[in-house]
Formats: sequence, C-alpha cells, structure tokens
Amino acid sequence: MNVPAQWWMSFRGCDSNLTCQRNMTEAADGPLHMFPDVFNLLPSHCVNHLQQMKPRDGDNVQGRAAAHTRQRDFLLADRSILKPGKLGRGCLKHGSRECPVVWQPPANTEGNCQPLTVNFSGPTCLPWSVMGKHEDMAHCSMVSFHAWLAHVAAGHYDVVFLENAPGFKFRHFQRPMSKRYTVLKIVFGSEDRQPSRHLCQQSVDNNM
Ligand SMILES: [Zn+2]
Repeated sequence: MNVPAQWWMSFRGCDSNLTCQRNMTEAADGPLHMFPDVFNLLPSHCVNHLQQMKPRDGDNVQGRAAAHTRQRDFLLADRSILKPGKLGRGCLKHGSRECPVVWQPPANTEGNCQPLTVNFSGPTCLPWSVMGKHEDMAHCSMVSFHAWLAHVAAGHYDVVFLENAPGFKFRHFQRPMSKRYTVLKIVFGSEDRQPSRHLCQQSVDNNM
C-alpha cells in the first residue's frame, strides 16, 4: 500500500504456513502480534465446542456439510466472542502471554482524520478448489473458513479484503457480511482465461 510509513501499522498477522510465519515474525515492519492459526484467536471454550460439533467418522457428504453448517451458525450467533479487547493465545512473538486480537483506535485522536482498521485475508480455498474436490460445505477445512468469517463479520474492521479461489461461493461471504457491510466482488483479469485470477470483496461498514 503506497502510503507514508508513519501512516501504516501492521497490528496482527495470522498464518498456518511456517515460512509465512517466519517471514512476518522476522520482518522489521511485520505485525506486532503473530498468531499461528485462526483458532488461536478463539476462546478455548469455543474451540472445544467446535470440536464436539465436527463431523463423525464415516459421515457422508450431506452429514459433513450439516456439521459444518452447525459450526458456522454457532460461530456467527455469538459475535461477542470475537469483539475488540478479546485476547488470543499462542502469539509467536510473546509466547504464553495472551495478546489482543484486534487493534483498538485511540480514544482521543486529534483532528478529523480517524484511523481505518483494515483486514486483508486469504482464508482457506480448499473447499472450492480441485485439490479439495470442490466439496464446498462438506470439506473439512470449512471450520477454518467459518472461524475467520465470524471474526470479520463481527464488524470491528472498517474494510475487509478477501482473496480466494475462482470457484469460491460468493454467498458464503456475502450473506453474513451484508448485515453490516456493503459487499463487492471484484475479479482481476479475465474470468475465463486466467485460472489464477483473484476474487476480492471490499466491505464498508454502514452501521458503526
Ligand atoms: Zn503478541
């Protein structure tokens, strides 16, 4: 982003890939807090409940999709679990200390220029890819997507950017986000010729 360095602060990163974790943790201008997994942003009781709701061994496609739907509804029903001020566990920079999940703007900002809080994310794309057999709601990584979705749908960001696979089902993002945000879908490049094209939704909060 082409803005003066003093205008920009990276508050929190989250990535399950070890190389990405190392790059962000060691970068001089990297995030102040770095979490290794989206589940580190959730309270432990919430993670335990998600574990209880996960599909059983031998469940068919419909059964797995139903279990992931229940997990999604649970996460989206109680947005207080992901509000600013909540703490995450296992920050790679601060060890066992619990660290804030969301940056809170200072209360006494001078002038009329208020800081923006922005989330850039590329949550799991496996449910909508060849590698994930296009299983959509039946894919085991849907719980990761829904944990991320609940986090951004809670409404504490001014703008949210999502990048995902060409086969991504836009409704999964649009429906929960549209309660608080204006949701846009943007395709970079030709839809029919660029298999690696990106999908991006920009959301602007109308109600905060
Ligand atoms: Zn930390």
